[in-house]
Amino acid sequence: MKILAGLIALWLAAAAVVVIFLLGDDNTCTPTGSAPSGGSGVPAGTGHTWPVDPAVFTVSDVFGARGGTHLGVDMAAPEGTPIYAAMDGTVAASGAASGFGDWIVLDHNIDGQIWSTVYGHMYEKDLLVAVGDQVKAGQQISRVGTNGESTGPHLHFEVRQPPGRLAGGQAIDPMPWLQDGGTATPSPDPHAANQAAATTPAPTSAPAAPAPTAAAAASGCGTSGSGGGVDNLKPGSVPPQFEQWYRKAGTTCPEISSALLAAQGDHESGFRTDAVSPDGALGIAQFMPGTATATAPDGQPYVIDADGNGRADPMDPADGIIGQARYMCAIAHTIEGWEVDGKVTGDVTALTIAAYNAGEGAVLDSGGMPNQIPRHFTETRPYVAAILADIPTYAQQLS
Ligand SMILES: [Zn+2]
Repeated sequence: MKILAGLIALWLAAAAVVVIFLLGDDNTCTPTGSAPSGGSGVPAGTGHTWPVDPAVFTVSDVFGARGGTHLGVDMAAPEGTPIYAAMDGTVAASGAASGFGDWIVLDHNIDGQIWSTVYGHMYEKDLLVAVGDQVKAGQQISRVGTNGESTGPHLHFEVRQPPGRLAGGQAIDPMPWLQDGGTATPSPDPHAANQAAATTPAPTSAPAAPAPTAAAAASGCGTSGSGGGVDNLKPGSVPPQFEQWYRKAGTTCPEISSALLAAQGDHESGFRTDAVSPDGALGIAQFMPGTATATAPDGQPYVIDADGNGRADPMDPADGIIGQARYMCAIAHTIEGWEVDGKVTGDVTALTIAAYNAGEGAVLDSGGMPNQIPRHFTETRPYVAAILADIPTYAQQLS
């Protein structure tokens, strides 16, 4: 579901840090479609809900941050904010854990396989469940704390694939998983958007980028800012004239973030708006002309007139950056579909970056990270590694 409606950056000074609200005041951009299911790999319709009211928390650190070592998402919220079980399940752990302060691990049986959700940095006094307890989605299990290796109150939330957290299951990005919606009972005090997420079944068909509705287009919300992505851009990390566009672009879909796009922009053009490559790639995001004008899943070209100056032009930095996001999201959704179909394996983010460089066909033909021609090894793979390594340079690092 497109939960995180509207990109409005509200600044919150808290504990001497500045965090960015993901939930803006643009509530006219209510959810209008479903994010692709399957990106998380979780079967659709299994039902999950937000572990913290999305009207309350702000993402202070994304999955995969810190050079890929951050295996959850950090949801900053005031100390004492209720934490809810994200799915029906069984309490597998509840107590002290290294680095986490106190944690709770819930195991969820989905079609006979054990997935886990993990909740960290709480205080012992706030553990409301014990090992072996059965919990329901939306049931309060604890309260936000700042215990353990933490610099401010937040929930560290993980989603682990089978065989589950305590059996070494791999982490996946929780945000697309949460935004896939579900059929769970909403949390006791649901935000309007959360309520929609909790009552709308996740789509079961192959992923496809949702087209904006007429209402969304009419309210100016159709192009970006309503896609559930993450504006995690570190202030001052990009040239100031581009900052608003990377912030806006980062929210286009859950699979991307502002920091990812900025790291990619640096590698594509060094933020040079007049960049033209020998191949003819244009502008800050290095669009090939044919790609810029190709039709995105929403029926518009990838490069649109984002800044409203009357022309859609990849040499225009706003149009290029927003176009970059639109293209990245389309690629990500395509790759998620291929993963569901078993045609491709690997990290969706890495493969999406690879496809931006080498084309989606290279990913499909390779069944994952491109391996078909020498350039895939000499250019594409280093390009992917460099961008992933640089994301922390552009991302808020709070805790
Ligand atoms: Zn964390």
